[in-house]
Amino acid sequence: STVLVWLRNDLRLSDNPALDAARRSGERVVALYVHESDEAIRAPGGAARWWLHRSLTALGEDLADKGIALRVENGRAAEVVERIRSDDEAGAVHWNRRYAPGQREVDAAVKAGLRKQGVDVRSHAGNVLLEPWEIVTGQGKPYSVFTPFWKALKERDIARPLPQSAKGKNVTAGQIDSDYRQPEWAGKLTQYWDIGEAAAQERLEQFLEECVEDYPKGRDYPARAVTSHLSAHLRFGEISPRQIWHTAWAFAHAHPDSTSAVEKFLSELAWRDFSYHQLYHRDDIANKPMQAKYGDLKWRHAPEQLKAWKTGQTGIPIIDAGMRELWETGYMHNRVRMLVASFLTKNLLIDWREGEHWFWDCLVDADDANNPASWQWVAGSGLDAAPYFRIFNPVTQGERFDPDGDYVRRWVPEVTALPDKFIHDPSQAPEGVLEKAGIVLDETYPRAIVDLKETRRRALDAFGALSAEA
Ligand code: FAD
Repeated sequence: STVLVWLRNDLRLSDNPALDAARRSGERVVALYVHESDEAIRAPGGAARWWLHRSLTALGEDLADKGIALRVENGRAAEVVERIRSDDEAGAVHWNRRYAPGQREVDAAVKAGLRKQGVDVRSHAGNVLLEPWEIVTGQGKPYSVFTPFWKALKERDIARPLPQSAKGKNVTAGQIDSDYRQPEWAGKLTQYWDIGEAAAQERLEQFLEECVEDYPKGRDYPARAVTSHLSAHLRFGEISPRQIWHTAWAFAHAHPDSTSAVEKFLSELAWRDFSYHQLYHRDDIANKPMQAKYGDLKWRHAPEQLKAWKTGQTGIPIIDAGMRELWETGYMHNRVRMLVASFLTKNLLIDWREGEHWFWDCLVDADDANNPASWQWVAGSGLDAAPYFRIFNPVTQGERFDPDGDYVRRWVPEVTALPDKFIHDPSQAPEGVLEKAGIVLDETYPRAIVDLKETRRRALDAFGALSAEA
């Protein structure tokens, strides 16, 4: 008979517990991916669809190499999984667990339906370091602060990745549904990314060899590419967090000087688990503020300013650089993500959900847990969030973390000729300096769309009013 593996956010062959269990059964294995149309499932945004199509293509080839056919289908999960299961006469279905409330609802329904048919259904842990319920405070509650979460996680034995299983008889890889090559605009992303499991493993190796030692300091400087860029590979499960964990520790053992840098890197990886912890334990984090009082915040309706933010036309170079990097590459450096999110929610006082949606559509790593949790963290409504009165000043942040203006010059060519002194704040440059740099404000580059000091005060008032109520 046959065993069906339903793949979702785990598009890899190695350290894939569901696939491994299916293969160990000794039965014929069929793999399935469903582009789910259930309302409970958040549909991927444009950049993620672009990545997904390529990731499925790579996966299909890798699976075929092992003698496993990949079927890619569209529709409601319960219907599709049951149809394929019955076409293939599968007696068992395996998958790796996922954690968003809507995903759990769908999975529970699929499981109940299959069990009614007498099918053996097994779910496995493969996409986080620890299952969200496996790590709780001394009082048995979910964590709401990162540092104790990290301290507890660090002491735990993280399961070792599964060994690679043997090669099967080849099958021919099928053609993957061409609708998911869209959208066309995403074609420009091709030059920036290598997609698939092999590329993810290579990136990890390269990061450890070349960058990790510089990571603790260098990770804050957007012009330096010292972070791992593994986020989209993790989002689609082309690599597992357990593989990263154990490979990185093994590297530290072989290179003891790098131990503290490796630990810093893994603590950032643990933020991902912390986001999943929130996704699992809190209610609908993409829509509802985790601290209820923020539900009363009077966000501004400012469509023109929102558009300027999305298109990188705010007149504040580091903000515009970040938003243009996002549009061009499907990625943005973490420091700049924090700055653009702070600028939107504090200086523009625009609802964080507007920003979260834009990121969701544009990021190749747009993630059910990390995106909303990080937005809420910056907006102040999240768990362990920065206090509301810590509002980033994007000009001084730019001067600090992009001191030579290299990052800004890469993405905002209009201001390239400005001297470093004014590169982060062209609106403050004297006329003569602007003229010499070939800049006419509001013609060649926008004048800053807001006064940072004034809007900071406005945000303090709006947020402060809520805190006083609490
Ligand atoms: P590295 O620094 O190399 O870190 C390794 C891995 O650890 C990352 O790939 C990621 O999985 C995890 N990680 C690192 N930093 C964080 C963090 N602060 N929070 C959670 N996980 C982290 N990350 C996403 O994966 N998807 C998102 O949709 C996303 N949206 C974000 C939105 C905002 C407003 C902010 C401020 C951050 C967001 N992040 C998101 C977190 C972080 O910016 C990215 O994970 C990181 O920039 C990815 O680059 P990297 O892989 O080189 O990271």
